[in-house]
Amino acid sequence: GKRISGRYEVLGLLGGGGMSTVYLARDMILDRPVAIKILRYDLADEEELRKRFHREALSATSLIHPNIVNIYDVGEDGDLHYLVMEYVEGQTLKEYIQEKAPLPAARAVDIMMQLCEGISAAHLHGIIHRDIKPQNILMDLDGNVKLTDFGIAMALSATALTRTNSVMGTVHYLSPEQARGGIATKRSDLYSLGIVLYEMLTGKLPFSGESPVSIALKHLQEETPPVRDERPDIPQSLENVILKATAKDAAHRYPSAEAMLKDLRTVLSPERKDEAKFIPPP
Ligand code: ATP
Ligand code: MG
Ligand code: MG
Repeated sequence: GKRISGRYEVLGLLGGGGMSTVYLARDMILDRPVAIKILRYDLADEEELRKRFHREALSATSLIHPNIVNIYDVGEDGDLHYLVMEYVEGQTLKEYIQEKAPLPAARAVDIMMQLCEGISAAHLHGIIHRDIKPQNILMDLDGNVKLTDFGIAMALSATALTRTNSVMGTVHYLSPEQARGGIATKRSDLYSLGIVLYEMLTGKLPFSGESPVSIALKHLQEETPPVRDERPDIPQSLENVILKATAKDAAHRYPSAEAMLKDLRTVLSPERKDEAKFIPPP
């Protein structure tokens, strides 16, 4: 295969999106597989996109956590802009949901707890993901879950806060404040996590529609449908986690990923399970 910067030998295609393509490659120096994300060459001339690409690299290089895809290197080879990262052998959470949803509650809770751990680490570094969705969550062969694609994530600096320019993909996981065109906060990430939890448990999206605008309006106006309408076996306490994460008003959401994690830890305890199974007499 082709060599990049004399070091990375490209072996095959892993995936791609609007801005870039991701390849499996081998790091010839450290002799290990890596994933290499290359900015689409026809976009490499666009300064703003090039900046966004490098921002992804820079914001994430300081983040080393088992639930975040580790960025190893960033560089240029001629007009090729690339980012080298940990190779996660497995599938995206999107693919996993398509194959396996509705997931058993314990499985969905385990995945969500790992995501809360990863997001908590990012938030601790002042980094907001802004684009949490199953397509940006990778799962390895041991079931470890890792967040990737911090493409529109940025450090919480004053300058960063005034620049909310972003190339938007799906709006299905977008918080009401983002749908309104406002500034994303840490709590916006928790809203997206709540939507992912709903999707894992039901195999459905809570808000869907004909157009991005109609979906965005539902995020703003419609209450999150009760997951127990679809899954009566789900404990009320787990339903409550989704409702609290997806509160329209960010002030009513969990204050932090740790707070959400704390609730997720208690949700499947034996007494809570019994509580959930309780059927009131007629
Ligand atoms: P853009 O950043 O331009 O929006 P994108 O969103 O498609 O592009 P990613 O989400 O980072 O970029 O990656 C696209 C796909 O490539 C993923 O959905 C996944 O299938 C695959 N992929 C990305 N990173 C890795 C990795 N580290 N290991 C294995 N596969 C990966
Ligand atoms: Mg992506
Ligand atoms: Mg992306």
